[in-house]
Amino acid sequence: MIVIFNPDVDPQGDEVRLLLATITSYPGVKTTVHHVYGATRTLTEVYLIGKTEIVPTSAVETLPGVERVVRVSEKYRILGRHRGQLEAVGFVYNGLTFDQDSLHVFAGLCAVDTREHVEKTVAALSRAGVKTTRMGAYKPRSSPYDFQGHGKACLPYVFELCGKYGIRVIAMEVLHESHIDEIRQALAQAGEPTGVMLQIGTRNAQNFELLKHVGQQKEFPVLFKRGMGITLEESLNACEYVASEGNRNIVFCLRGAKTHLGDPHRNFVDVAHVPVVKRLTRMPVCVDPSHSVGKRDRAPDGLLEIHHVTAQGVIAGANMVLVDVHPAPEKALCDGPQALLLEELDVFLEDVRIARDAYDRRKALAARKREASA
Ligand code: PEP
Ligand code: MN
Repeated sequence: MIVIFNPDVDPQGDEVRLLLATITSYPGVKTTVHHVYGATRTLTEVYLIGKTEIVPTSAVETLPGVERVVRVSEKYRILGRHRGQLEAVGFVYNGLTFDQDSLHVFAGLCAVDTREHVEKTVAALSRAGVKTTRMGAYKPRSSPYDFQGHGKACLPYVFELCGKYGIRVIAMEVLHESHIDEIRQALAQAGEPTGVMLQIGTRNAQNFELLKHVGQQKEFPVLFKRGMGITLEESLNACEYVASEGNRNIVFCLRGAKTHLGDPHRNFVDVAHVPVVKRLTRMPVCVDPSHSVGKRDRAPDGLLEIHHVTAQGVIAGANMVLVDVHPAPEKALCDGPQALLLEELDVFLEDVRIARDAYDRRKALAARKREASA
């Protein structure tokens, strides 16, 4: 059960306290309070979990400040839209808003290799006006003999340089809960110059203990990458593991599925799921054209296939793009063949703007159509 308060209700105020006190008389029902950011308003929601069938709706909806009570279905209890009864929600992190209307490009290194490459990359982003990047410090590799990432050793210079060039959020994969502590410590030591979005890679999509750990902290938002060989439903349930532990600041990332049906791409591109995830859940949706396409092949029209897939995701309403760039891809220690060059960044960003503009016009068309038939 979700209790939605009127927008002017303070999450620490009397109205919320009265609801929490009322619920203590129902054994086996737990409550969690969430402050959520919607497209048009900010509000407080209280989640009732457990034996909620013993709580009559009437006992809650008549309490002061309550706008609405929604009985949730079994699926995606926290993140779901529940047949359109709930609007999308997002979050604000380090000054940036992430929701189903926003769009951010996270361009950066698949794997941090040298300080010089980090600096060249973030300097190019800064020149292009981009405030979000990706920097892999901990790398999950198919072979134990491949480069595993510099780990915590690179965090001080990554955070320092990101701060120096105005980067506000870095997407950074974690493979173990100890990595969250290492990131927290390194950020504190550097004086909190930037923010981090904890990335759960496709290989850990069903590592339930790790999902619980990122869910138990609320300091960092989470970028969840769909499992490459599991259903969309299983991936969305994995996000519920994070949300049900308390952290619902999650962006869902489509990165392709592993099947040879996608050949010659590295993974079978799944951007068709952008509107599906937005319909089923309240999460913002990211696309990762680099890991889905996997190489720099150029179509006869002159555009890289990575550009095409990015545009397909953005024109379908994606809220975030995660893309590999590198100052010298031939020297990259991981995924060089799919990295865009820094000189290509401007064209890439312009192409994203064209696709976003087309999406905005398509959305306006649908709104006009709805108004005309209302
Ligand atoms: C990555 O983004 O660096 C990565 C390893 O991606 P994925 O988990 O989608 O393979
Ligand atoms: Mn990679």
